[in-house]
Amino acid sequence: MSTPTNPTESIRQSRRVEQLVAGTATSDGAGVRLTRLLTQNLQRRLDPFLMLDAFGSDNPDDYIAGFPDHPHRGFETVTYMIAGRMRHRDSAGHEGLLENGGVQWMTAGHGLIHSEIPEQEDGRMEGFQLWLNLPGKDKLCAPWYRDFPADQLPRYDLPGGIAVTVIAGESGGVAGAVTRAATQPLYLDIHLPADASFEHPLPAGHNAFVVVYRGAVDIAGQRVPEKQLAILDNDAAADGVRVSAREDSRLLLIAGQPLDEPIAQYGPFVMNTEQEIYQAINDYRSGRLGAAEAR
Ligand code: MN
Repeated sequence: MSTPTNPTESIRQSRRVEQLVAGTATSDGAGVRLTRLLTQNLQRRLDPFLMLDAFGSDNPDDYIAGFPDHPHRGFETVTYMIAGRMRHRDSAGHEGLLENGGVQWMTAGHGLIHSEIPEQEDGRMEGFQLWLNLPGKDKLCAPWYRDFPADQLPRYDLPGGIAVTVIAGESGGVAGAVTRAATQPLYLDIHLPADASFEHPLPAGHNAFVVVYRGAVDIAGQRVPEKQLAILDNDAAADGVRVSAREDSRLLLIAGQPLDEPIAQYGPFVMNTEQEIYQAINDYRSGRLGAAEAR
């Protein structure tokens, strides 16, 4: 625990909820059931974020097969494991165990092949995977990977039982586990007791959204229920967001600076142009993606 240097960053006017998104039930990997909250049609609206999947089940059939070897190129993945254990291995030689409350941050860059396989045969598995875009100039950078066990994630407390984990960005004077210059991601996990309020400044140009995964909150008079993605508006007069808990609640607040570049996606490859996508597919098919000589 660290003490925030500026625990009362009060804001003048809160953003409002522009839209509530229920998401799409789908499956990915070898049959992992999940809810895709940020789908491809929201990529421009929520630039620099490309995808957000929520998974949560007590039934091993929903997760046990995991995500066997598959490639990525051109962006970053941030996996937040609320409950459960998952083993990561990739072609850049990284290996890690992601478990209860931990975060895995992976920069695919020019490409890697990885697997994400559960290390549990029963019990609950719950968490989120966020895809964060890279600017065109960094899409072919060297892959990067870090595991942050729960006890190594920066966090702080506020009066009234509020607890904030700073996965990315900066909050309350606390530097997050990861910072990124181009996209300036803010990724907070906020625990709010019933009737507590939390305020956070947000630059008006940054795209932002909230996902409540326990309880329910109010934002500018709008109820935000569990398991939906609430897109916050970019009203130039608003200088942040104010969240009030209707009951004991846990939520993610995610924001970032848009890249405003063309987005070309084909499955696990996200580049700027079709030509770069063909190159990624060719590199993968010919075994060059994820290989040491890929560059
Ligand atoms: Mn993956």
